[in-house]
Amino acid sequence: MSQTAIDWARVRADFPLLERQVHGKPLVYLDSANTGQKPAAVIEAVDDFYRRHNANVSRAVHALGTEATEAYEAARAKLAAFLKVHRDELVLCSGTTFAINLVAYSWALPRLKAGDAILLTRMEHHANIVPWQLVAERTGARIKVAEITPAGELDLDALYRAMTPEVTLLGLTHVSNVLGTVNPVREICREARRRGIVTLVDGSQAVPHRPVDIPSLGCDFYVLTGHKMCGPTGTGALWARREHLAAMPPFLGGGEMIKEVRFEATVFNDPPHKFEAGTPNIAGHIGLGAAVDYLTAIGMDRIDAREQELLAHATEALGAVEGLRIIGSAREKAAVISFLVEGAHAHDLATLLDLEGVAVRSGHHCAHPLMAFYGVPATCRASLAFYNTHEEVEALVAAIGKVRRLLL
Ligand code: PMP
Repeated sequence: MSQTAIDWARVRADFPLLERQVHGKPLVYLDSANTGQKPAAVIEAVDDFYRRHNANVSRAVHALGTEATEAYEAARAKLAAFLKVHRDELVLCSGTTFAINLVAYSWALPRLKAGDAILLTRMEHHANIVPWQLVAERTGARIKVAEITPAGELDLDALYRAMTPEVTLLGLTHVSNVLGTVNPVREICREARRRGIVTLVDGSQAVPHRPVDIPSLGCDFYVLTGHKMCGPTGTGALWARREHLAAMPPFLGGGEMIKEVRFEATVFNDPPHKFEAGTPNIAGHIGLGAAVDYLTAIGMDRIDAREQELLAHATEALGAVEGLRIIGSAREKAAVISFLVEGAHAHDLATLLDLEGVAVRSGHHCAHPLMAFYGVPATCRASLAFYNTHEEVEALVAAIGKVRRLLL
């Protein structure tokens, strides 16, 4: 880690929205696992594109067309360098949900057959469950589930036992959006590979918070969403091994993804463009490139360390609140804390916290099977990012105390 100290108050000042008030109180934004706030550099990159360079990509030879194409491809190159992958293996798309559907329809649908199985973990987001169910229905494959321990860690022995010969693909989240659990992805992918199982890792909650070197993980597919990593909504990427991208048929057909179209037959473009039909989210991905620059300038190792400090503080402070139960106590966690307060419904609690200026998410967090495991319909979730402060952790705890007194 670089030794240069970061002035976190200055970093926070890069985020214009964090200066606002809600309900007459200073905003305490603790919902970054849902979507992250944007630094001025990202907002300005999008604004600059529309003010000065707006044109479509890969089509026009005029100056603006060239500028737009270069900026869009530069963003791909930045994201690829950030993840330590080759740019030709990085398909830009609207986010994790799209990326998983792309793999489900383009890789899995033509391959799976009755008797095959798709192995998922109990802690997957619906985005890493439902596309597989849709494909399973159409192919006769079935879904198998790898269970977790009450602490919210994967039961690795059970997971490896579940890796039976009929399992074709394992879908696994890198970091749980509900529990904060960081899964030992490298070890799991190694075990899967030994058994000939293809792996898809959902990096939505990992890439924004820690350095991610995709090749070192040994997976086949890695997906991420831009809006959780300081980028605009509607951005993200699928990384896939070159051999998969070469073998997969296109997911969507249209412009951009072709070399030549005749009514008799069409020659598709090379990956990654083969999977990017139609006009992409040009401005959004240029904004994502700016987000990558921004995160890189701070340093992902320092962001990780900062968030771990905030997590330790929040875990200790919340743990001391009477009647509050934290769900998810994995040994390795990201800065996500799901909790319940005795006598208060999660939605009521979140609504009352909002009146105190504190934004937390309540609900099932798109993880029904995980809620079922814990026997609860919903939790409150405070999720922290590097731009949060220790004072905000204290503000959360104070607001919960106040709300609890109101409710009880
Ligand atoms: N996977 C995980 C682990 C997530 O946290 C989320 C977003 N909550 C998604 C997938 C879906 O991301 P998106 O809606 O941006 O496609």
